[in-house]
Amino acid sequence: MSCVFCKIVRGELPAHKVYEDAETVAFLDIHPMTEGHTLVIPKLHAERLADLPPELAGKLFQTVQRVAGRITQALEAPALNIGVNDGRAAGQAVPHLHVHIIPRFPGDGGGSIHSILYKPQKRPLEEIHRLIADTL
Ligand code: 5GP
Ligand code: ZN
Repeated sequence: MSCVFCKIVRGELPAHKVYEDAETVAFLDIHPMTEGHTLVIPKLHAERLADLPPELAGKLFQTVQRVAGRITQALEAPALNIGVNDGRAAGQAVPHLHVHIIPRFPGDGGGSIHSILYKPQKRPLEEIHRLIADTL
C-alpha cells in the first residue's frame, strides 16, 4: 500500500505523533496552517467518511475531542477549526480520511468555515430539504 498515512500508521514514515490508540492516531501536519495543526486519522484505510465502518466514526471523533482538548491546553489556543476535506472537489489531497484540527488565535488573519466558498443559493431551501431529508 502506497498510502502515506498508512505508512505513518505502520511506522514506515516518520511523523510527530501526539496520540495513538488501537483504532486511531493523531500527528502534526507537515505543513501546518497554524502552530499545532494536527491530523487525526483512523488506522484502517478509508478514503472518505462514507468509507469508514460506522462503528469507527464515533471512535474517530472521540480522539478528535481528546486531542483538541490537549492542543487547547498545551498551546493555550482560544479556538479551533475542526474539519474534513471529504473528496477531491472539497480539496482532499491525501486519500486517507483525516480530520484537521487547526488552532486559532485572535488576529491570525484566518476566516471561518464559511470562507471556503460563497455561492448564492439557487433552489429553495424546501426543495433541498426534501431531497436530503427523504434519504435519511
Ligand atoms: P487534505 O487537503 O488532504 O485535507 O490535507 C492533507 C494534509 O496532509 C495537508 O495539510 C498536508 O500538509 C498533510 N500531509 C501530507 N503529507 C504528509 C506527511 O507525509 N506527513 C504529515 N505529517 N502530513 C502530511
Ligand atoms: Zn491509508
